[in-house]
Amino acid sequence: MDTSAYLKSHIRTVPDWPAPGVQFRDITPLLQDPKVFRVLIDTFVHRYMDPGLRPTVIAGLDARGFIIGSVLAYELGVGFVPIRKKGKLPFTTVEETYELEYGSATVELHTDAVRAGDKVVLIDDLIATGGTMMAGCKLLEKLGAEVMEGAAIVDLPELGGSAKLRASGLPLFTLVDFA
Ligand code: AMP
Repeated sequence: MDTSAYLKSHIRTVPDWPAPGVQFRDITPLLQDPKVFRVLIDTFVHRYMDPGLRPTVIAGLDARGFIIGSVLAYELGVGFVPIRKKGKLPFTTVEETYELEYGSATVELHTDAVRAGDKVVLIDDLIATGGTMMAGCKLLEKLGAEVMEGAAIVDLPELGGSAKLRASGLPLFTLVDFA
């Protein structure tokens, strides 16, 4: 089995959660199995060890992006910065609001989280509409950082988010697709 199929076989689909019609792709079984978790992290580490792609900072999106992003940062020997839902970060922040299917959401980043010239890999567990990752990119760019690549375990290509992000000029690296 290739890496993608191996990882995919450890992602659980929970129908109609958190709302009717949503197929929730649950990565907790993947994190729970130490062998699979290692394959996941090693795949990201291998990619971002490459001198051409080596970041100076890993930024993780609230909340599952923190789990994989912090381990990745540790392994690469770079810092980790959290992009959080509004109201959680204690210091001065920049913020970005984006549209959801119903309503909107706001994410924040500490103003001293990155500096001009930082090369950032922005990571989350999953890309659906791409709104969360797009907002994260805008925050990092507001502070003068360059987002080298967006990374996620799962892409839901039918929702169009990954195509929209790529069209905006953001390279993406994802490991598993769900149609
Ligand atoms: P989006 O901004 O639409 O790309 O949504 C991505 C964010 O929402 C990520 O932080 C995901 O954890 C979460 N998310 C959205 N849809 C799903 C889904 N079907 N299964 C699991 N997580 C999801």
